[in-house]
Amino acid sequence: MNPITTALLGLSVADAIGVPVEFQSRDELDKNPVTDIRGYGTYNQPPGYFSDDSSLAFGLAESLATGKFDLVDQAKRLINYKEHGYWTPEHQIFDIGMTTQQSIDKLSSLLRDGREAELPTLHESARESDNGNGALMRIFPLYAYLRDKPVTEWIAPIWQHSALTHGHIRSACCCFLYLRFCAHLIHKETKEKALEFARRELLDFLVVANLPIEELDALATLIKADFSTLARTQVQGSGYVVECLEAALWCLFNAEDYRDTVLKAVNLGRDTDTTACVAGAPAALLYGVESIPANWLAALARREDIIELGNRLAGVYKV
Ligand SMILES: [Mg+2]
Repeated sequence: MNPITTALLGLSVADAIGVPVEFQSRDELDKNPVTDIRGYGTYNQPPGYFSDDSSLAFGLAESLATGKFDLVDQAKRLINYKEHGYWTPEHQIFDIGMTTQQSIDKLSSLLRDGREAELPTLHESARESDNGNGALMRIFPLYAYLRDKPVTEWIAPIWQHSALTHGHIRSACCCFLYLRFCAHLIHKETKEKALEFARRELLDFLVVANLPIEELDALATLIKADFSTLARTQVQGSGYVVECLEAALWCLFNAEDYRDTVLKAVNLGRDTDTTACVAGAPAALLYGVESIPANWLAALARREDIIELGNRLAGVYKV
């Protein structure tokens, strides 16, 4: 199976494992940990139903599968998700982040007023508070479009897409580190090497970008920490983009297969579906699609549609 389809299955299965316990605290989950696929719970959805994380990633995948990086088309698909449940299990949304919701409303009014030309500059009005994990969770498909481009050309499209909902440079840096990490995994590097290379590439960008010291401080753990020895108490499965990526990396570096990576992510608590989703794509790339438990994959809503979408996107960019 091509790596795009593998990663789309990896992220959406993981998302679905986290959905029934989203917002549960770590203490609650420590008493009753998730050990296999469940249904219902937080949103009363059947087992295998994925949330906004996957739906929005699929929307980006559909847009890129047209063969173009088109911000207007990407924006329309975000709006379509919110208004019509585009790429949801049953054409109905049951979960949407606050920043994502507000940003999509803003996108709707920009397009309604014929102000499409403003889409590439949305990051200029970003605030530090716009640093949720809503862009990170959906960014993976952009790998297909970027894969043959020089690394120095990755950050601009990443930031522009992120900025449709999350415009701050910190979100773009996290998306960049994550996508470069995934790219190195696809090139069969070990997870240790993949992270080392991705970190070096992020540092190269940070030097050129000349960001304020607070930004470097915010990214310090992502740049320097040894996730394999970091205590579980030092990571948070929160909605903050930096903590989300730290948590996902911690799970990847403290587990040896897909199943354990995803369960560790979910059992960190709070934004369970998104931590798992962000860990799920690289875990599937690392261990292969065959590492996804068969009963999890069998339960996944719209599985055949997801496989068709992944294969189509991979075909367009010859992955
Ligand atoms: Mg979600």
